[in-house]
Amino acid sequence: MAATPIPLEAQGIKKRFGDHEVLKGISLQAHKGDVITLIGASGSGKSTFLRCMNLLEQPDEGELIVHNEAINFRATKHGREPTDWKQVERIRAKLSMVFQNFNLWSHMTLLENVIEAPVYVLGKPRKQAIEEARALLDRVGLLDRADYFPTQMSGGQQQRGAIARALAMDPEVMLFDEPTSALDPELVGDVLQVMRGLADEGRTMILVTHEIAFARDVSSQVIYLHQGVVEETGTPADVLDNPRSERLRQFLAPKH
Ligand code: ADP
Ligand code: MG
Repeated sequence: MAATPIPLEAQGIKKRFGDHEVLKGISLQAHKGDVITLIGASGSGKSTFLRCMNLLEQPDEGELIVHNEAINFRATKHGREPTDWKQVERIRAKLSMVFQNFNLWSHMTLLENVIEAPVYVLGKPRKQAIEEARALLDRVGLLDRADYFPTQMSGGQQQRGAIARALAMDPEVMLFDEPTSALDPELVGDVLQVMRGLADEGRTMILVTHEIAFARDVSSQVIYLHQGVVEETGTPADVLDNPRSERLRQFLAPKH
């Protein structure tokens, strides 16, 4: 019997910007239903690592394997590039990213945002895409906002809308980069609740967050990054409740 495909594997990812090596060989393996949380100080490389995983940045070294399919790279005089951008497009459709600043398209209604990629990337019939989008909007509590434009919604609503848009691709893995960091405190809870629901239903997720209590609750694995290196990793109990290094203890200490 064939082994169950692993949704996402990164092996030895390195990335430099000029002389600055931002990622120094990072690996992870996300099995189905895993919620892997990346924590670390600002500048430690969390966003760059997420961006490498869906090829918004090209890793200089290392392997990416999505659902058992390895991304092919070739050397160019500007560094490494994917050999086949069609492959990148296909792989990206399996890895939906949710950004800190929501990134809904401002000239489209919420519903149009959600159906855009299913219709134009996956080629779904519009009617079916709309039906599915409405179900997703209902699920994130925004069915009554379907015809609103992003500027007519709160940050928390926009972010829940962005999650619905990501879900509309039925991704293999969802990547979240500090999804609640730009929100007013009173709007954070609703977004975390939606994310908790996704974790509970067994979605594979890789998440950057400063919400440590949430990370403790939902994560199967926590990775602490420091200057582009995995400094500690393990279960939330290992990493968050029994940090080994003084640096991680300091990082986790209440800030006030
Ligand atoms: P984090 O998300 O953990 O705060 P980032 O991945 O955003 O960290 O950044 C890691 C380091 O890489 C930082 O020093 C940042 O300035 C640098 N960096 C990120 N993106 C670029 C870029 N496009 N060009 C040059 N330096 C970058
Ligand atoms: Mg970041």
